[in-house]
Amino acid sequence: MLWLRALLFYEPGSSSDINGDILSLFTSRQHFQGRIIERFYDKEWQRMAEILIVEDELSINELIRKNLELAGHHCIQVFDGDDAIELLIQKNFDLIILDIMLPGADGYEVLDQAEGLPVIFLTARSELSDKLRGLSKGADDYITKPFQMLELAARVEALLRRTKKAEKYFELDHVKLDFEKRLIFVDEKPVDCTPKEYELFETLVKNRNIALSRERLLDMVWGYDFEGGTRTVDVHIQRLRSKLGLERRIVTVYKLGYRLEVPQ
Ligand code: CA
Repeated sequence: MLWLRALLFYEPGSSSDINGDILSLFTSRQHFQGRIIERFYDKEWQRMAEILIVEDELSINELIRKNLELAGHHCIQVFDGDDAIELLIQKNFDLIILDIMLPGADGYEVLDQAEGLPVIFLTARSELSDKLRGLSKGADDYITKPFQMLELAARVEALLRRTKKAEKYFELDHVKLDFEKRLIFVDEKPVDCTPKEYELFETLVKNRNIALSRERLLDMVWGYDFEGGTRTVDVHIQRLRSKLGLERRIVTVYKLGYRLEVPQ
């Protein structure tokens, strides 16, 4: 379904160069403002990922960021290999888009720091070495420049889907979430939750450490057709906090919504 959404930002008639894509991105934005585009978003995969973009060419970095943000992800941009390494020491990401030829440390050195994280390499065809081909046989992927944003977006989703499958449980303090059984446990005992309470907690977990607005939570958990207001979200959050004893973890973000705070 994400394909459909991505297609909306892609105009087959436009030129394949970066500027053409940026232009079509802006025109599409004007045409598809608001919630209509969100309807194409498959709820099953509705997961906001934290993505690090390491690319020294400003226009490419920007193009990737804009498109991935439109797909609902949160992006952090760096333009230098040393900055990328420093950031990876401090922070965890769901996925990295990594150029090979960079100022400072190169992509391979950045990769050493990104141990275990899913990576999509960006590289010119001429730089496509056996080393890179070898690396990309595992959980990672690579894409050669120049590339179509549609292809990159599809690969990002595919890689996120593959890595998401590995996650069966989530644990925080005395709370455990079983994604397959759709159950929440407190001190090993299953908690009596309504389906909406479960979905709300699962959504917070999948978007841990990211502030989600009440409107977005309403869309993600209750759907677009829900007539009730954002007060519904507040009520459910209160119930979750007390049922799970996570008063300090499910924090209120002033004038916005909520965030589940998880030590990284
Ligand atoms: Ca480069």
